[in-house]
Amino acid sequence: MIDFRSDTVTRPSEKMRTAIASALVGDDVYGDDPTVNHLEQFAAQRHGFAAALFCSSGTQANLLALMAHCERGDEYLCGQQAHNYKFEGGGAAVLGSIQPQPIENEKDGTLDFAKLAAAIKPNDPHFARTKLLSLENTINGKVLPLSYLAKAREFVNQHNLKLHLDGARVYNAAVAQNVDITEITQHFDSVSICLSKGLGAPIGSLLLGDEQLIAKARRWRKVLGGGMRQAGLLAAAGHIALTENVARLADDHANARYLGECLNELSGFEVNINHTETNMVFVKIDPSIDVHALASALKQRDILVSPSNLMRLVMHLDINRSDIELFIQCLKYSLKG
Ligand SMILES: *Cc1c(COP(=O)(O)O)cnc(C)c1O
Repeated sequence: MIDFRSDTVTRPSEKMRTAIASALVGDDVYGDDPTVNHLEQFAAQRHGFAAALFCSSGTQANLLALMAHCERGDEYLCGQQAHNYKFEGGGAAVLGSIQPQPIENEKDGTLDFAKLAAAIKPNDPHFARTKLLSLENTINGKVLPLSYLAKAREFVNQHNLKLHLDGARVYNAAVAQNVDITEITQHFDSVSICLSKGLGAPIGSLLLGDEQLIAKARRWRKVLGGGMRQAGLLAAAGHIALTENVARLADDHANARYLGECLNELSGFEVNINHTETNMVFVKIDPSIDVHALASALKQRDILVSPSNLMRLVMHLDINRSDIELFIQCLKYSLKG
């Protein structure tokens, strides 16, 4: 199968499977799992934070960050397109009694500071208490400029807010900008990172923050059913994801541009290559093309895509150049048929 639906579909490498099989483990709820402890210490130091927490998923890591920064009746500012507003089941409101205040994202994925400032509530019992700004990087495959992150830091300092990054794909941003990850993470009070997307681990995310924030998040993780016992099996794979699978993200980005160029040669398909900054290709497909029929035809050839006339194709470590070439061939064939 060549699976373009997401970078979550990668399967653990032989090296990961071997590390999983031989991982030293203990009960992590007692703090006894040496492999989890090692991953958390490594991750904290690597990203310039005092502490880290190994979480079951990116959704959990984001929710824990929101619940650690905010109390009942507080609110966080975020993008209308933010994953932790739109795609996480309303968890902050449902489970945290925290109100989201979404702001329309600009075309480049940023949030406008004047619009954000206007949304901050005065200290008055009519209103929720605005506590946090949450950004996302990458957002829909786009990279937030480093200068914007520095301005976001100034903005939150000025308004006495905290700053969280949903960094599910923050390594894609760092690789695309050709900077060390700390150039990005330095601006934030907390960062969540998915190990199970482009970095190729089977399960798991990290939350980074100071000691106090991570202690609160650890408590909420247990309350939410995220105390995972011998989780070192997963942390072993997570460590390999962080140490071995970062540099190769550049291949995914190059493959995305290559795929975009190939698609632009087909009539009825349009990709804005300038917006293809990381591992995602967004293809506008002419309404005359039945995308559901197309997806079914491709599936018969062991190629998986999500049917949409604004189709998202995602590159990852299980897709190489020849897979892309095969995909283009099958696409041409299916369109003819
Ligand atoms: C995937 C994703 C998440 C959530 O991660 P899960 O592990 O799927 O829960 C959060 N934020 C962004 C931007 C994501 O892409």
